[in-house]
Amino acid sequence: MPLPEPASSADGARPPVPPDPARPGPGRLSARLTALRECEGEHVQATLFRPVDDEALCHDCLRRSLQVA
Ligand SMILES: [Zn+2]
Repeated sequence: MPLPEPASSADGARPPVPPDPARPGPGRLSARLTALRECEGEHVQATLFRPVDDEALCHDCLRRSLQVA
């Protein structure tokens, strides 16, 4: 005895979903990028890093300076 299946038209009868205004957009990405800082150490290319405590050097430069000193 087959179970009564819902009509396939129920799937196509959904109302269109409006775009969610609270949805995170590309603005969040740029906000993250502004949190990055360019390292003041010696780099062939500009190196961006995320300063933890108002640091001016990236982790690589900090580690290197610690090893040298
Ligand atoms: Zn660096």
